[in-house]
Amino acid sequence: MSTLITGIGELTTNSEVTGNALVIDGAEIAWVGSSTNAPAADDRVDVEGRAVLPGWVDSHTHLVFAGDRTAEFGARMAGKPYTAGGIAVTVNATRAATDEELAAVVRRHVAEALRQGTTFVETKTGYGLNVADEVRSARIAAEQADEVTFLGAHLVPPGEDADTYVDLVRGEMLDAVAPLVSWADVFCEKGAFDYDQSKAVLQAAAAKGLGLRVHGNQLGEGPGVRLAVELGAASVDHCTYLSAADVDALASSDTVATLLPACDLSTRQSLPPARALLDAGATVALASNCNPGSSYTSSMAFCVTTAVLQMRMSVEEAVWAATAGGAQALRRTDVGVIRPGARADLHVLDAPSITHLAYRPGVPLTHSVWRRGERAS
Ligand SMILES: [Zn+2]
Repeated sequence: MSTLITGIGELTTNSEVTGNALVIDGAEIAWVGSSTNAPAADDRVDVEGRAVLPGWVDSHTHLVFAGDRTAEFGARMAGKPYTAGGIAVTVNATRAATDEELAAVVRRHVAEALRQGTTFVETKTGYGLNVADEVRSARIAAEQADEVTFLGAHLVPPGEDADTYVDLVRGEMLDAVAPLVSWADVFCEKGAFDYDQSKAVLQAAAAKGLGLRVHGNQLGEGPGVRLAVELGAASVDHCTYLSAADVDALASSDTVATLLPACDLSTRQSLPPARALLDAGATVALASNCNPGSSYTSSMAFCVTTAVLQMRMSVEEAVWAATAGGAQALRRTDVGVIRPGARADLHVLDAPSITHLAYRPGVPLTHSVWRRGERAS
């Protein structure tokens, strides 16, 4: 089954191909070019001058959770500071939930994101923090997310000894979870895991063949960026507080700086220095960090709007970061891009150009979405 899409007012491909029409064949894009040269197809859709771009690639979410942290959010907005310890509240609720309850939460948020144009989702474990609950979190995540990351090193469970817990994470827990995931991550931050503990977990994960990611430099200038670059991690996420040396290290590495502006706003931190990273030559991605504690949004459009209006990224830079940048943070070349052979993940805006994402802040602009070649909404 092939579909010719015509009438594209502006086509963002993130690739060398250009045009105002494309053909989807099965789950892939088969052709891109000018409508005057379009090949025949089984079906035809005219998008009537709307902008088309790759579906959002959300490279950082925490969707396997239970419970609610509305009260904590409200207290924070009333002036209480954010600390890493709030994660423990979600851990207790997650451990108490049934498999079906957890699966329903993941399903609901993946569907919510898809309706807003997110066609590719990474999600993490990290609210189980014991072997059995991390394993089931990974299994439930893998049923619905495109990429799954092991985040046993999210927080030392309250009452447990940090070094004993690190040994569990890099030993028995990693052994049990590794077959279910592609990535490992650590929360390398004051109040979570220090440089040595984070490094021990990541090295054990690399030895198991997992790709590496790091939560770093969220609450202050910590060692997260340095560690991520040192170990060749695909991505270091947050990057809210960076030294000049951190920026230089990222610029001369393959490690993507994944910025999570919805999280910084929801925790009343500064916004990350996107301009410094881009001007230095670092690769920047944008992601939602959707989680119940510090960033409870699945809206990539909100992140893009914020990046443009408040982080001084151009619209083109922000859209690239939320599509191709997310793909690069996950070392994927088949998504976040429109060209023959790529996954047919398309986002049609109810607007003539991507500029409207920032020009019309807060307005829902998703007109329609294709995921793996199927009309999703
Ligand atoms: Zn996170």
